[in-house]
Amino acid sequence: MRSFLLLVALLVAAGAAALAWSFAPATLAVGPPPKLVRPSAHPAEGMRLSALPAGKMFSQAVFAYRGGALGEPRVFAMTGILVQHPRGTLLFDTGFGKDVDVQVRSTPWLMQLLTRYEKGTPVAEQLRAHGIGPKDLAGIVLTHAHWDHVSGIPDLSGAPVWVSRAERDFIRDGGVATALVRGFGDLPYHVYDFASGPYLGFDRSEDVFGDGSIVLVPAPGHTPGSIIAFLALPSGKRFALVGDLVWQKEGVELPAERPWLSRSLADADPAGVRRWIVLMHQIQIAMPDLVIVPAHDSRVLERLAKFPEWVG
Ligand SMILES: [Zn+2]
Repeated sequence: MRSFLLLVALLVAAGAAALAWSFAPATLAVGPPPKLVRPSAHPAEGMRLSALPAGKMFSQAVFAYRGGALGEPRVFAMTGILVQHPRGTLLFDTGFGKDVDVQVRSTPWLMQLLTRYEKGTPVAEQLRAHGIGPKDLAGIVLTHAHWDHVSGIPDLSGAPVWVSRAERDFIRDGGVATALVRGFGDLPYHVYDFASGPYLGFDRSEDVFGDGSIVLVPAPGHTPGSIIAFLALPSGKRFALVGDLVWQKEGVELPAERPWLSRSLADADPAGVRRWIVLMHQIQIAMPDLVIVPAHDSRVLERLAKFPEWVG
């Protein structure tokens, strides 16, 4: 009996040590970069961008990236990014919608246990106050279909929902990770297939308006159909909306992936996530002026113009 208890104690200690080790700082190996040529862009005059904060979640750096400090609070922004282009207005992700309280209660219990959040003014309400309705949106472009990115879709009923084909299949076939958006019923999906050729080390791309100002690339990993959106504004400013590839900017800067616990809960394919983190790290070195915007890094998002202010 005593040796059995000793064995159990040893196993518990080994498990605790392994869990602690999984949070230890570790950067990803970065090989020689692919040939990265700054893509040309001819954004139309009048194109502009604005951030619409719509809620927050409260977490810690330790859960966001390997090397993040235990006990260091991080505010996870829930923000939509509006891009006006003369040929159409696109909203990237929705932030928290007006029904977020009910939606949170429909997520798995473990998620509810780990979720501390604060509501904000829903994106739809902010837009309506300035005369912009769902009919004025050419599309809601999802970086991916997790609940905290789609929460505001019902508030913008009728707007087309842009998803990559892999993400559309993930929504259709997927389990609990896409239950919320599936529950919204038969949305007017606009499915795209990255028909525009290679872009900055990515094999394929979708050049939305054909002028290089809004280019979507496939970055499967966090979800099978996750994307990154590269934006080029008339001023020459460039942004990359990387969705949940990393939760905080240190993920690309170091580069470092999420710790094992977060990967296990959040990522469909951690190897895919690692591949694109390393590529974005290399792209940042090749294009130091590119502002990489993780969907939940409030420090980066706060530096963008806040609706109804714009950056052009
Ligand atoms: Zn996500």
